[in-house]
Amino acid sequence: MTKRVRFAPSPTGYIHVGNARTALINWLFAKHVGARFLLRIDDTDQERSEDRYVDAVKEDLSWLGLTWDEFTHQSHRMDRYDMAHEKLRVMDRLYPCYETPEELNLQRKSQLSCGMPPIYNRDALKLTQEQMMAYEAQGRKPHWRFLLDDLPMEWDDLIRGPVKFEGRHSSDPVLYRADGMPVYTITSVIDDIELEISHVIRGEDHVTNTSIQIQLYRALGAPLPTYAHLPLMSDVSGEALSKRLGSLSLRELRAEGILPLALTSYLAKTGSSDPIEARSSLANLVDEFSFEKYGRATPKFDKDELVQLNTKLLHILPWSEVKEILQARGFTNIEESFWKAVSSNIAVLSDLKDWMDICSDRVTPVITDPDFLHAAATSLPEAPWDESTWGTWMAAVKDQTGRKGKELFMPLRQALTGREDGPELKVLLPLLGRDRVLNRLKGAA
Ligand code: GLU
Repeated sequence: MTKRVRFAPSPTGYIHVGNARTALINWLFAKHVGARFLLRIDDTDQERSEDRYVDAVKEDLSWLGLTWDEFTHQSHRMDRYDMAHEKLRVMDRLYPCYETPEELNLQRKSQLSCGMPPIYNRDALKLTQEQMMAYEAQGRKPHWRFLLDDLPMEWDDLIRGPVKFEGRHSSDPVLYRADGMPVYTITSVIDDIELEISHVIRGEDHVTNTSIQIQLYRALGAPLPTYAHLPLMSDVSGEALSKRLGSLSLRELRAEGILPLALTSYLAKTGSSDPIEARSSLANLVDEFSFEKYGRATPKFDKDELVQLNTKLLHILPWSEVKEILQARGFTNIEESFWKAVSSNIAVLSDLKDWMDICSDRVTPVITDPDFLHAAATSLPEAPWDESTWGTWMAAVKDQTGRKGKELFMPLRQALTGREDGPELKVLLPLLGRDRVLNRLKGAA
C-alpha cells in the first residue's frame, strides 16, 4: 500500500522555522520512500483561522520547494466529524457534560488541594435524564467527552522508541465543544483514518494527544498509523518558537535573502547526526534522509549558522542561479568575473556592496605616508594582472623600502580602499586595475 503523510498547520499565523522543519521532514520521508504528501489545513477554530494564512502557508511551502500531492481543509469536512459524533455516541463512548469552565476549575483546584491529580471526575456520567433536561431548560448546552478505557496506550515511536501511557491517568478529553464544534483531537483522527495516513510525523507537543488518539482509533476500529514525534525547535537561547509571536517566520528569512536550499539544508541537518552543510539540491537531502539520524534533543535555530550556510551555498551554485538571486536582492550590475573573484571572500550578501564600492570610484583614499606610496608606485608591475601580482609587487616594495608586515601593507590598503580592513588585496588588485591603483596611491579616487 502506498504510504501517505500529511503536514497539518492551523492557519493562525505565519509558519516559522519549527513548523517548516516538520513539513520538511514529512516531505523528505515521503520522497525517500515514494509516499504521498498531503497538505491539510486545520481550520476548525473559526475565530483564529484566517484565509490569508492559508495562502501564506502555500506560498511558504512552495518557496521551500515542498510541493503537495493532495490538499484539504478540515472546515470542508464537518459532516465527517458529525458522523463520528453519532458513531461514538451510539457506542457509549461519547457523553454529554454540562459543567461550566468555572465549575471545572473549582473541581481541579479542590482535587489539587487534596493532593489528587486533576483528572475529570466523570460526574456527568451520573446525570439523570431529568437533570440533563433541567440544564437544557436553563439554556446550557453540553460539551461532549470521550470515555477513555483503562487499557494502556502504547506505540513504537520512530524518534522516541516505545512509549506507554495509562488510560486511567488521563481526563476524558472533550471532543465536541458546547457550540457543536469538533476539536482537533477528533478531527485529526477522522482525517488521518479517512485519508489513509500511514505515518503521522509531528512535533512532540502532540505526544499526549497521540495517547488519547490511539484510543479513538481503537474505538473506531481503525489500524494505527506509525508515529514520529520530533523534538520542538527552539531559538538560540532555548526559548520556544511561536507562530502567534511571529518568531522566525519564513517570510522574514526570505526577505533577508536566505535561499530556500540553505534553509532546507539547515533544517534537515540540525538535530540530526549528519554535519550541518549546504546541499545543492533537495534531491540530495531526500537521498540522505533517515529517521534514525534524528535524536531527541531540542534542536536550536542559530541564525548565524544559517547565514554562513547561505553564503557557502552561494559559492556552490552555478552562476545562472546566483545571478537571479543577486538581482532579486538589488545587485543588478554584477558581472560573472567579479562574482568569481569576490564570492569566496564574502560572508553575507551585503558584503558585496563593500567590494562594489571599492571597485568603482566611490572610495576616498586615506594617505598616511605619501613618500612610501610614491616609492611603491614606482615598482608596480605592468599589466596584465592576476592574483599573483600582489605578491610580486610586495616583494619588490619590501626590497626597495625594507618594510614588512603591517607597516608594508596597511598604508597601501588605506590608499587603495580607504579603510583598514576589507577584502583581500591580492583579489582586489586585478579588479581595480593598474590605472586606478596608480591614481589611488596619489590620493585620487
Ligand atoms: N494542527 C496541528 C498543529 O498545527 C496539527 C498537528 C498534527 O500534525 O496532528 O499542531
